[in-house]
Amino acid sequence: MSVGSPLFRGWEVVVGLEVHTQLLTRTKMFCRCENRFGAPPNTLVCPVCLAHPGTLPVLNAEAVRLGLRAGLAAGCTVNLVSVFERKHYFYPDLPKGYQISQYSHPLLSGGSLRVRTAEGERTIRIHRMHLEEDAGKNLHAGIPDKSHVDLNRAGVPLLEIVSEPDIRSPDEAVDYLKRLRQLLRATRVSDGNMEEGSFRCDINLSVRRPGGAFGCRVEIKNVNSFRFVHKAMLFEIDRQIDAIEAGETIRQETRLFDPSSGRTKPMRSKEEALDYRYFPDPDLPPLVVDPALIEEERRGMPELPESRAARLVASAKLTVADAETLVGEEALADYFEEGLALLETIPQSAGGKGRERWTSFILSEVLRELNRRGEAVLSGETSAARTVPLIVKVCSGELSFSQAKEVYQTAAEEGTDPLAIVSRAGLAQISGDGELLAFVEAVLAENPAEVEAYRGGKDRLFAFFVGGVMKKSRGKANPEKVGEILREKLGRTS
Ligand code: ADP
Ligand code: MG
Ligand code: ZN
Repeated sequence: MSVGSPLFRGWEVVVGLEVHTQLLTRTKMFCRCENRFGAPPNTLVCPVCLAHPGTLPVLNAEAVRLGLRAGLAAGCTVNLVSVFERKHYFYPDLPKGYQISQYSHPLLSGGSLRVRTAEGERTIRIHRMHLEEDAGKNLHAGIPDKSHVDLNRAGVPLLEIVSEPDIRSPDEAVDYLKRLRQLLRATRVSDGNMEEGSFRCDINLSVRRPGGAFGCRVEIKNVNSFRFVHKAMLFEIDRQIDAIEAGETIRQETRLFDPSSGRTKPMRSKEEALDYRYFPDPDLPPLVVDPALIEEERRGMPELPESRAARLVASAKLTVADAETLVGEEALADYFEEGLALLETIPQSAGGKGRERWTSFILSEVLRELNRRGEAVLSGETSAARTVPLIVKVCSGELSFSQAKEVYQTAAEEGTDPLAIVSRAGLAQISGDGELLAFVEAVLAENPAEVEAYRGGKDRLFAFFVGGVMKKSRGKANPEKVGEILREKLGRTS
């Protein structure tokens, strides 16, 4: 197991991740309040999620369905009977004084995810996935000397995904999280939006001598970006190694990552399961899953990121790395495939040439604009349907690749149809008639034999002259206009 693990100052890092992901249900886990982010505080609440006495939870079947789907996608075993339990703790954002969760009998067990880093490809086992409800949120910002509680999030359905302690480096942890999020998005289980808290991660980390016994782990709570996961881990690895090498012992505790200092700091000593006083929730019967529902979810399973990447490698001749980059941004992969299908319908850009140009255009220009401007850039004036004509023009030699890039960028900046930009730029060239004429005359003067042959009936030479002018103008001439001038000069109407 330890063979090939990267070492940090001679130590091996052992990490298990717990991810809480909000499910894309219309309503909350145990009541009919809307499950939606961003509403004014305490507007999406009812007696059930406010924990008024005498109310009863009713399980949301859609949450169960989404949980099953995520589990099946990751190869988990479905436990046909699972149990909701009460996990007790006191916190102002938890009006019931307990969270309804699954403990000794989770909905899903086992499963795994393949990860790939510079170190190679490995399998990270998933220990379990279970359903639970989210808590509310304490608000401190912008309220002097006071804190408020927003209970809109109280009762929102969560799937908690717990990995085995199989992760061996910060890179691997981030790759695992990215792939897990891709899986949840591709299956429409969660939007995986980290800024809105739909995908949150707790890091359990320890260090050990290579191949030795597991060390004592520290839990870093609620890290909310991939970059922070990486930073928090690097800091914590050094901190633990420093401590052990100075003869201290690591205590099991819960720490918080502070992005402004890049450090983790103690939050509380870790509670044990015993502290939570778990017991089966008497208001909820055991959850019994109908095997027909499992079958339905299995049959309806969409194409998963791993298969999609493999398909793109096989059918679109992408490298594995390029395919994974595309699939990593699902909307970009859709854009890519839409454009590819369009190119195949246009003779001059069908096949390898068009595909290669489209691929490199997507992976350079479109990806950059996507990162800069967000998903809006994949629709409107820079949609695949509007962008493909640029690549067609590159294939036919009307535009150079770098001109296509410039036009695309202008289109993204201005929100203008790329073809309108091309003809706008083309118009500027036509108004420079004299310049085109000079190019034409130069080409004809340089090729007297071809001019004679053409006049003698060798029609095919016309393209040769157009090509010569395009070359001289470095691709900037408007080919239609060049044709007109050439015809005039050559004195034939071919
Ligand atoms: P808890 O429920 O108290 O958080 P679990 O046993 O469910 O504890 O483990 C939580 C996470 O900690 C899991 O992802 C697991 O893989 C990870 N983990 C367990 N032991 C270690 C260890 N020694 N070092 C790092 N991670 C660990
Ligand atoms: Mg835990
Ligand atoms: Zn409610």
